[in-house]
Amino acid sequence: MYQEYIWKKYKTQEKQVNTFAENYKEFISKGKTERLCVEEGIKLCKEAGFKELKDVKELKPGDKVYAVNHNKNLAAFVIGDKPLTEGLSILGAHIDSPRMDLKQNPLYENETFTYLDTHYYGGIIKYQWVSIPLALYGVVVKKDGTSISIAIGDAPNDPVVGITDLLIHLSGEKLQKTASKVIEGEGLDILIGSIPLEDEDKEPSKKAILKLLKDKYNIEEEDFVSAEIEVVPAGLARDFGLDRSMIAGYGHDDRVCAYTSLRAVLDTPKCTKTTCAVLVDKEEVGSIGATGASSMWFENVIAEMISLTEAYTDLKLRKALANSYMLSSDVSAGLDPLYPSVMERKNSAFLGKGICFNKYTGSRGKSGCNDAQPEFIAKLRNIMDKEEICYQTSELGRVDQGGGGTIAYILANYNMNVIDAGVPVLSMHSPMEIVSKVDVYEAYLAYKAFLKNM
Ligand code: MN
Ligand code: MN
Repeated sequence: MYQEYIWKKYKTQEKQVNTFAENYKEFISKGKTERLCVEEGIKLCKEAGFKELKDVKELKPGDKVYAVNHNKNLAAFVIGDKPLTEGLSILGAHIDSPRMDLKQNPLYENETFTYLDTHYYGGIIKYQWVSIPLALYGVVVKKDGTSISIAIGDAPNDPVVGITDLLIHLSGEKLQKTASKVIEGEGLDILIGSIPLEDEDKEPSKKAILKLLKDKYNIEEEDFVSAEIEVVPAGLARDFGLDRSMIAGYGHDDRVCAYTSLRAVLDTPKCTKTTCAVLVDKEEVGSIGATGASSMWFENVIAEMISLTEAYTDLKLRKALANSYMLSSDVSAGLDPLYPSVMERKNSAFLGKGICFNKYTGSRGKSGCNDAQPEFIAKLRNIMDKEEICYQTSELGRVDQGGGGTIAYILANYNMNVIDAGVPVLSMHSPMEIVSKVDVYEAYLAYKAFLKNM
């Protein structure tokens, strides 16, 4: 079914949709960072009987394995009947989401308030992140290698932190500024304490916080240098709307496609081709680095897997990658009726119309886009119709309105066929993103249909 509202389809299957939504809500509520998404993903892999690739001596059809990279990437595979050189069916999503990261020297005191200084990560509209409860997640790694996990703000009795905003009574001048300037990057400082330490003249409030950090976590100020702490919205994902048709949460982009992609691989029995879900980091900042989609890691994993099935050659690796088909599982911008002017309606994604395929992304004349082959799209149409999947197609807004990119073009560099396919989102990149429950479930079904038939 192409471009139709699909709640009708689910009149009788509402239970599956809701059960899936509950499991997904739990996943994003726990997976507030890429490390935590990997942790949750590994749990799901283990529950489904997957073994870690590094513990495996050989691979044969039907084997189920997963690989982890720097605690920030996860790939899960079910080995198919055909050799790897004939290509894989890959679902690729990213598990990093826009947020604020603590700077390396974050701690300071001002007028007996203690603050943590941040540098924002990815594209955020800064004014959306003030005056809301925030949580702190991440790791502090000590010089001796011990890693201390931080998770403050989501347990029922936890305190929250946040960024204060100026009162309306005194905001006359501030409100004259443009929206991009009204809150500046250096203004995103997190208030975390206000009790001064007794008998301390110099920075008594900061010293009190340092004492607390030492007592509770064994962290010294200098340890922030080797820490990675992310400031994210506090609170769990929740049903949205009086009819509970939607989910409000932080990080739907792109954990909604990561979860559905991973579940699709875990829940699909052995296929003719090897199936794969790969979850990457750093998409929101250009997919660079050891844990981004541009990293050699994924290629290395495939090389490793070939060597566990047959005599390895470089040519076999290249063939395996070039013969693969991939859905770059990433979210689309849903049409928001409050802001219709940025969209071109007949090429827009709608919440409640199922998974959305984007032939291309990019901006200003498709610049930077992947632009999937029509031959590949025709195959997908055939699969979606055969499996009765509801799907739609879209562009990211009106021509010359803006734009964006995904990991699609990076994997396409191996000469594999890649297209973007994911869940439409409202308020994307905000602290409270919104998706439709039927789209989440339909994406899961679409990913499974792709794995089974590609
Ligand atoms: Mn994305
Ligand atoms: Mn994004």
